[in-house]
Amino acid sequence: MGEFELIRRYFSPLSAISVPSESASRLELGPGDDCAIQRVAAGWQPVFSVDTLVEGVHFPKDYAPHRLGYRALAVAASDLAAMGADPVCFTLALTLPDADKRWLKDFSAGLHEAATEFGLPLAGGDTTRGPLTLSIQVHGTVPEGAAILRGGAEPGDLILVSGSLGDAGAALDLLTVSAPTPDQQALLNRYHRPSPRLSLGRELRGIASAAIDVSDGLLADLQHILDASGVGAELDADAVPLSSAIVDSRSDALEVALTAGDDYELCVTLPESHWRRLTESVRQQLTLIGKITEASGLVIRQNGQRRDIACRGYTHFE
Ligand code: ADP
Ligand code: MG
Repeated sequence: MGEFELIRRYFSPLSAISVPSESASRLELGPGDDCAIQRVAAGWQPVFSVDTLVEGVHFPKDYAPHRLGYRALAVAASDLAAMGADPVCFTLALTLPDADKRWLKDFSAGLHEAATEFGLPLAGGDTTRGPLTLSIQVHGTVPEGAAILRGGAEPGDLILVSGSLGDAGAALDLLTVSAPTPDQQALLNRYHRPSPRLSLGRELRGIASAAIDVSDGLLADLQHILDASGVGAELDADAVPLSSAIVDSRSDALEVALTAGDDYELCVTLPESHWRRLTESVRQQLTLIGKITEASGLVIRQNGQRRDIACRGYTHFE
């Protein structure tokens, strides 16, 4: 099986997934030519982001290919959610040690499942031989000027987080457990199948002052908002939402929730007066965990006491 047969068999079908017909912008020309073409509707801007996953660094060696395909696209799509963008399409640069048919079939099935769920057809890519690595570029669109940036938080704004935190981080210690308990399985599911908050991000357009997706840990990612906005924050650690699975299985659940990444929830700020503008179903997805302050620095309070937590997330090259 040559490179082009491989693309035709496993990847070209992913360009044909159906997307909502009301989409303002869409993929106009998919794989097969020298470039793909995206139509951007009048009054809208393209937004895009690339993520690279290297075997042994971002996912374990011999990680199940179906999971890898799903997770890789979910992680990439999360950046669109954090900008408040509508999904349009994605490209895939795939480096493979060999053309293992079984692996390709399962990987492309996982990718297909995620592409269908998130409304992201495959626009094209690049296929090469080498150590297993994948880069996914996601393309989205926002009404002009409506993207939610990291730099818009103002003193007095509320800090909110979606879903619950820490589960995916807690799952890292469980990846090799052969018979997980129901709690452990719940944590593992959060790692294997992240839920990029695409519809929530879109609902927050024009309402949130800043947003980021929690990929490196809440403290580290909130700090990015604070740095970009030139503000500080007070965080109420007792308010951080935790699942029953992590509370029941880890005595250090809160530390994990504050410092571990991979949850792909959204951390957003908004003026208190904007809270009323959210629909009830959006409010239910969010938990208030703190406030933006004029004074710089991140102050964490637990039981009314100030706490210092050292670990501030993961960075490469340190
Ligand atoms: P070029 O040499 O012009 O860069 P390539 O030989 O790299 O073209 O790719 C040929 C076509 O196949 C392009 O349209 C490209 O987008 C598509 N393609 C290559 N790899 C993939 C992939 N993994 N998934 C989807 N499309 C791919
Ligand atoms: Mg090429």
